[in-house]
Amino acid sequence: MTDTNLISRPGLIDPVPVPRDVTPREDGRVDLLGLTRSRIGELFETAGLDAKAAKLRSRQVFHWLYHRGVTDFEAMTDIAKTMRPWLTERFVIGRPEVVLAQHSEDGTRKWLLRTTDNHEFEMVFIPDETRGTLCVSSQVGCTLNCRFCHTGTMRLVRNLTPGEIVGQVMLARDALGEWPKGSMAGFRDNDDEDRDDEAEGGNYTSDGRLLTNIVMMGMGEPLYNFDNVRDALKLVMDGDGLALSKRRITLSTSGVVPMMARAGEEIGVNLAVSLHAVTKEVRDEIVPINRKYGLEELLAACAAYPRASNARRITFEYVMLKDKNDSDDDARELVRLLKHYKLPAKVNLIPFNPWPGAGYECSSPERIRRFSEIVFAGGISAPIRTPRGRDIDAACGQLKTAAQKMSRADLDRLADEKQAALG
Ligand code: SAH
Ligand code: SF4
Repeated sequence: MTDTNLISRPGLIDPVPVPRDVTPREDGRVDLLGLTRSRIGELFETAGLDAKAAKLRSRQVFHWLYHRGVTDFEAMTDIAKTMRPWLTERFVIGRPEVVLAQHSEDGTRKWLLRTTDNHEFEMVFIPDETRGTLCVSSQVGCTLNCRFCHTGTMRLVRNLTPGEIVGQVMLARDALGEWPKGSMAGFRDNDDEDRDDEAEGGNYTSDGRLLTNIVMMGMGEPLYNFDNVRDALKLVMDGDGLALSKRRITLSTSGVVPMMARAGEEIGVNLAVSLHAVTKEVRDEIVPINRKYGLEELLAACAAYPRASNARRITFEYVMLKDKNDSDDDARELVRLLKHYKLPAKVNLIPFNPWPGAGYECSSPERIRRFSEIVFAGGISAPIRTPRGRDIDAACGQLKTAAQKMSRADLDRLADEKQAALG
């Protein structure tokens, strides 16, 4: 069976997209998870349906798959009873495999997941009073090597496919028991992939959900897996798919400048930028991609990000590292830079989350507070984030699956390798 679903197969830095077949399964069936409506229709046609039937069935299956979370064709009640075994013989609807599910004492949950080719990755769910945020991974490992990030000490194993990315959100809905229920009456066709609201097709209720927001802040650099992240998020935003508003989705990048405009145009979600330093010297050291795309270039790309406005401010993440980036001067320079580029900005101050072998310490609470006050005084909101899920290593920058322990020398060698690749 031919399939042109693209997967980016990474080089060390710039991933090269190559055509990839639908991942073959031993039983010969095709997993529909991660495929678009039109791709599902094509597969139905290849399997023998005429064009009209393929289109109708693909719409129905799409709805059950992404909107209802159904994994069994027998449960698709508006599909003719005789049709269901035909589907079951040829197709499946999968999920990433759960290796381990952990609960933090603060309510944060972390899942260790495994791909069919045996690579492990993680997702984290962070509930608080007003929202529930799922932190989704885009890659197994990361090509970059931000010095304070545990994921950065992994080599990139591979990009996650759209199915593995949207599969995280679906698995979270499974775990939280949050698929819409109710009758199919009122279900209407919906061609508009760009729907911007959270409208639901049916008359079932889905209020009071726990999972309200998604952040692309798990393992990996989402803009180095652009196509797959975009395709997965389109399924998440589709009004007849997972139907989550783009306003509730945030993509975080360490600063892959050449992809930022496309991210704005083709995905259109909120942008977060891992700034972490305000001088070339310090950012070159702790966020090495800065050597390739410098601060000025990055901030100019932020200013050009489509639809940046006061209502949709860009979030700048700033990890607080003792004696590295946390002085009063740093705070003042941060305000100056954001104002200079006229950025509608919000700063998130993240207390550094330690991991074994990290060569940094977290700034003191007083220092972080003072930093925050200076930025606030400059007219920019700068809340201090409370670390979540530290006891199960689920906090920012703590995700890492490879069991191997690296010595400091190993870590330095890996950093050199990755930096050489940055050119
Ligand atoms: N690769 C993307 C998204 C994943 S990282 C990026 O870099 O933006 C999500 C956020 O956690 C980033 O802002 C990252 O810099 C931050 N982070 C990484 N390690 C951290 C640590 N040890 N403590 C606190 N924040 C960390
Ligand atoms: Fe990769 Fe983001 Fe970690 Fe940097 S902070 S190493 S880009 S995951």
